[in-house]
Amino acid sequence: MAQPDNQSKRFFESLSGAGKSIAVLTSGGDAQGMNAAVRAVVRMGIYVGAKVYFIREGYQGMVDGGEENIKEASWESVSSMLQMGGTVIGSARCKEFRSHEGRLKAAHNLVQRGITNLCVIGGDGSLTGANLFREEWSGLLEELVQQGLIDEDAVQKYSALHIVGMVGSIDNDFCGTDMTIGTDSMPPEDGWEEKMCQKLSANRAGMKRLNIIIVAEGAIDCNNKPITTDHVKDLVVRCLGFDTRVTILGHVQRGGTPSAFDRILASRMGVEAVIALLETTANTPACVVSLCGNQAVRLPLMECVQMTQEVQKAMDEKKFEEAVKLRGRSFENNLKTYKLLAHRKLESELPHSNFNIAVLNVGAPAAGMNAAVRSAVRVGISEGHKMFAVNDGFEGFYKGQIKEIKWADVGGWTGQGGSLLGTKRTLPAKYVEKIAEQMRAHNINALLVIGGFEAYLGLMELLEARGKYDEFCVPMVMVPATVSNNVPGSDLSIGADTALNAITDTCDRIKQSASGTKRRVFIIETMGGYCGYLASVGGLAAGADAAYIYEEPFDIRDLQSNVEHLTEKMKGAIQRGLVLRNENSNENYTTDFIYQLYSEEGRGVFDCRKNVLGHMQQGGAPSPFDRNFGTKISAKAMLWLTKKMNETFRQGRVFANTEDTCCLLGMRRRALVFQPVVQLKDETDFVHRIPKEQWWLKLRPLMKILAKYKTSYDVSDSGQLEHVVRNIRPKESDPSGAM
Ligand code: ADP
Repeated sequence: MAQPDNQSKRFFESLSGAGKSIAVLTSGGDAQGMNAAVRAVVRMGIYVGAKVYFIREGYQGMVDGGEENIKEASWESVSSMLQMGGTVIGSARCKEFRSHEGRLKAAHNLVQRGITNLCVIGGDGSLTGANLFREEWSGLLEELVQQGLIDEDAVQKYSALHIVGMVGSIDNDFCGTDMTIGTDSMPPEDGWEEKMCQKLSANRAGMKRLNIIIVAEGAIDCNNKPITTDHVKDLVVRCLGFDTRVTILGHVQRGGTPSAFDRILASRMGVEAVIALLETTANTPACVVSLCGNQAVRLPLMECVQMTQEVQKAMDEKKFEEAVKLRGRSFENNLKTYKLLAHRKLESELPHSNFNIAVLNVGAPAAGMNAAVRSAVRVGISEGHKMFAVNDGFEGFYKGQIKEIKWADVGGWTGQGGSLLGTKRTLPAKYVEKIAEQMRAHNINALLVIGGFEAYLGLMELLEARGKYDEFCVPMVMVPATVSNNVPGSDLSIGADTALNAITDTCDRIKQSASGTKRRVFIIETMGGYCGYLASVGGLAAGADAAYIYEEPFDIRDLQSNVEHLTEKMKGAIQRGLVLRNENSNENYTTDFIYQLYSEEGRGVFDCRKNVLGHMQQGGAPSPFDRNFGTKISAKAMLWLTKKMNETFRQGRVFANTEDTCCLLGMRRRALVFQPVVQLKDETDFVHRIPKEQWWLKLRPLMKILAKYKTSYDVSDSGQLEHVVRNIRPKESDPSGAM
C-alpha cells in the first residue's frame, strides 16, 4: 500500500476548532455505539479547541432549547459512557421538527448559543430532517430577523450551518445485523404462508427439533400488508400444531453493552465527523461520515437522503427487486448468501461437478472458524462439489483423518466457538509426502485452509511442494482466522472481533469492580504474540489510558510520562486508570515490571492491580461480526475455487501450477481481495510473525486523544468526499469483492 509522504500528509493540528461551537445530538431510535460516538465527538471537539454542546432528546431538545436541553459538555461528562447501551443523551422522536415552525424555533435556539456546527447521529429520518434544516437555514434566519428575535449581525455571523451526519457501516457487510427477514429483505411472494409451513414440517420430518423464524419489525407482504409475529405464530400453531414461542428482540438488540466493534466504529466515526466539520467550507456539501469495509468515507448527505427516498418509493410501488438493487450490491449479495446457506436444495436440483474439495483449520482456535467451515461446506455442495473435512489441521491430514462432510453435518455450527474440526499448529513441510498421498487417495481437487499465521506459512510450504508432488497442483486458498489479527494481506481476521469483545467485557468488569474504590490503575496483559492489535484496539474500545505494544517501542521516559498522566488524572473526577500491555511488547518491561513501577511511582496517589487475560481471549461464542465475516469470506473463497478448478481443468484433470492459484483472501480497506501468497512475502516480518505495515497503528493516536494526551493524528487517510454508488451488476473480475 502506498503511504503518503510526509509533505502530503495532513495532520489534524492544522485544523483548529478554536472559536467554533459544535452541538451533537442522537435522534430516532437508539442504536448500539451511539454513546461511543457522542464521547468521541465531545472529546475530539474539545481536543481541537472547540466548544461542544450536547443536545438532549434529539431534535426535541433543539426545538425546546434552554440550559438543560442544550448543555455544554466537558471532558469528564462523557467518561464511563463507552460501555453503556442505548443513548445517554436521549433520542426522542420529535413531531415539531417536521414543521417549519419547529425548525424556526430550533434555529433560534442554536443562534442564541452561537452554534453553527451540528453533528447528527441517527437514521434516515433524522438525516432527512437535518438536510431540510440546512437548506432552510438562511431563510429561517431572515424570518427570525423579521420577527425581531435576532439582528442582522447575527445573520452575518451565523450565515452558514454546517452539518455532518453519522451512520454505521454503509456497507452492510460489516454491521452484523443485516441478515434478517423483513423490510430490508423484501417481501415474500404470495403463498409464503404455505411454503413456510411446508418447509417447517419437512425440517421436523428430518429430525430437526428447533426452528427459528425471524420477523423484522416492519415486515410486509407483497401487498404491503404487515406480517406480524403473532400472525406467523398463529399460522404455525394452526397449520402444524408446533409449540411456538415469540420473542421480541427489540430491547435485547438495543439494550445491552455495545460490542467492541460498535465502539471502535463509533469512536472512529465520531472523530471523523469532527474533522469533516472542521474541513467544511461554504462550497462543500453537508456530508455523512461512514465506513466502507475498513475505510472511512464521506458521502454527500443529499445523495444519501435521495437514495433512501428512492428505496422507499420503490417499496411503496411494490418494486421490490429494484429496492434490493438500490440498497447496494453488498446487500443483494448478503441476501443471496443467506438464502443459499439456509435453504437446502434437493439432491436432484444440485449440479454435479465431480470435483472434491478439502477444508481444514490450522493454528490456534478462533471464534468464527466453524461459521466459515459451515459456509464453505454448504456453498461447495451447492456448487456441485463433494466436500471433505480434515480434522486437526495438517497433522490430521497426514494421518489420514479426512472424510466426506455433508450439508446436515454442519447444521448449527455458526454460533459455536472454537474449532469443531479440530485445529493444530503443525506445519506441513515435513509431511508433504503423506499429505500428497491423502490428496491422491481422495482425489482432492482444491484446498480451503482456514487459519492464522501457520495457515499462511503452511500454504507457502504446499506451494513449494508443487515442484515435487503434482497432487498440490490444485487451487488453494486460505481465509485468515486468528484472534491475533496478524496475518499479512488482511486488515482483519476471523476471531479477532470476538477476542476484542472478551477483552473489553473484562475491562468493563474490572473497571466496575473499582467503582466505589478510589484511585486505582489496572494493568492488563493481552495475547497476540508480537502483534499489538488486541492491546491497541481493545484499548480504544475500553477507553484505556495507554497500550504498550511491540510495534511502537517505548522506553522509560514513556513509562514515566504515563505515570505522570495518571497521577494528574487522579486529581480530577475520574479516578480510575486502565493500561493494556501486549504479552510480547518488551522483553524487559514485563507486566510485573510495569505493575511494580506504577505501584511505586503511584504510591499515595493510586494503587495498582494486574490481570493476565490468557486463553479466555480465544474462547467463547463468536460475535455476530465474526459469524458474518466467516460466512461471507469463506463463501467467496469457495466460489473462487470453483472458478479456478474450471479454468485449470484440462485433459481430464485439474492442474494448477501458477502462483495465482495459491492465494490468501483478505480484506484490504474496502475490498476482499485474492492475493498470491508468494507476493505477500515482502510484506511479512517472519521473525515476529506480523505484517510489516499494520493499518490499525493509525488508530493509536485516537486512543491517546480520547484519553487526553497531546499527540499528533495523521488525517491524510480520513474520508474523502465520494458519491453514493448505484448498484451496477458486478463483473466477475470486480475486485471490490462485496459479498
Ligand atoms: P430515524 O432517524 O432513525 O430514521 P425517524 O424517522 O423517527 O428515525 O426520525 C427521527 C426524527 O427526525 C423525527 O422524529 C423528526 O424529528 C426528524 N425527521 C424525520 N423525518 C423528517 C422530515 N422529513 N423532515 C423533518 N424532520 C424529520
